[in-house]
Amino acid sequence: MTPNTDTPSSLNQTLFERARRVIPGGVNSPVRAFKAVGGTPRFVQRAQGAYFWDVEGQRYIDYIGSWGPMILGHGHPAVLDAVQKAAVDGFSFGAPTEREVELVEAILALYPSMDMVRLVSSGTEAAMSAIRLARGATGRSKLIKFEGCYHGHADALLVKAGSGLATFGNPTSAGVPPEVVQHTIVLEYNNVEQLEQAFALHGTELACLMIEPIAGNMNFVRASLPFMQRCRELCTQYGALLVFDEVMTGCRVALGGAQAVYAAQLPDFAPDITVLGKVIGGGMPLAAFGARRVIMEQLAPLGPVYQAGTLSGNPVATACGLATLREIAKPGFFDALAHKTRSLVNGLQGAADAAGLPFCADSEGGMFGFFLLGQLPQNYPQVMKTDGARFNTLFHGLLQAGVYIAPALYEAGFVSIAHSDEDIARTLEAASMLFKKL
Ligand SMILES: *Cc1c(COP(=O)(O)O)cnc(C)c1O
Repeated sequence: MTPNTDTPSSLNQTLFERARRVIPGGVNSPVRAFKAVGGTPRFVQRAQGAYFWDVEGQRYIDYIGSWGPMILGHGHPAVLDAVQKAAVDGFSFGAPTEREVELVEAILALYPSMDMVRLVSSGTEAAMSAIRLARGATGRSKLIKFEGCYHGHADALLVKAGSGLATFGNPTSAGVPPEVVQHTIVLEYNNVEQLEQAFALHGTELACLMIEPIAGNMNFVRASLPFMQRCRELCTQYGALLVFDEVMTGCRVALGGAQAVYAAQLPDFAPDITVLGKVIGGGMPLAAFGARRVIMEQLAPLGPVYQAGTLSGNPVATACGLATLREIAKPGFFDALAHKTRSLVNGLQGAADAAGLPFCADSEGGMFGFFLLGQLPQNYPQVMKTDGARFNTLFHGLLQAGVYIAPALYEAGFVSIAHSDEDIARTLEAASMLFKKL
């Protein structure tokens, strides 16, 4: 563990101790525990716009935004109003509502690769269901995923690197029997040669290839154009489905997600199945998966692939998602968001250069990543070359200065439309002081 430069306030500390007695690690999702960076997690009291306040009343500029969903900032008036009105009308019915149809129509208008969508409650559930759908639709079992890509914690997807293309994955988590992941092939991200070899060996048995097109769970790594093009070509050639996990990138790197970014550069490019979450729920438990009609009609009650959910298409969550999508679809929204994000990233680069620190950064839309490395990494092993101790010093320094970035170096960062020029300037000021000391 790194030296703890953190000086937690007593209330955060007390709450953390209380939480650890009754919740494993004191948290309901592991990264929140600050295990990688050391120190005491901040317990959030409330949030507004680009900020949240912890239980001690300390304010932080928020660059996590609930890990992506809060693209409008916290407590956006139009979203709050929609959620409050929906709550009055009822929390959950277990029967269809008009708002589900509206939300799906709004998603389809942004994602021309899909004809139909099914709503679920989490990204994990959406990715898991997408795999079942791909297997059901193709009648095949095997799937490709890439080292460093996270697709939620469904058993078949909780596989890290068994490097070597003929090697089938070993489970990353206890409790996942090897036979459950025997059909999962794990390859290196951005490695065209491995990809081609894997298809040559297993192509006719592959149900799908699942990818984070701009990976946000190993910080921020783009799939290169030639790599993405080969993914598409090989899937088509072998009859495997290309599944874009856009839980993080959807409505975040662009209104139309990463697929819009790639479609702008590769002719006729589209994935076969898209998985969405995070932004489309605006901070409520909501996610989705969709595809062309012939694939989606495989789902129950139309087809043989079973999938269901008590809270799926929840009326309050759909109100939140719909109000969020309406705001971000307004003209100029993404240009403004991308501009803010770029000014942060460029400012960080300038400050690091001035301090003579090895540093590189990248962004797309409202998502960014930076590395204490001289060159942007192309895959997970390269990401892991970042100096962890330096990152942790930076993390705690920023935290002290009231700037909250992800408490682990393998996570992306998020800017919201509520981040002002002044917020970004304050962030850069804090970073530049710290860079000089690193
Ligand atoms: C967050 C995320 C998931 C999992 O979503 P949950 O809602 O946390 O289950 C899946 N895939 C990607 C790319 C993600 O970023």
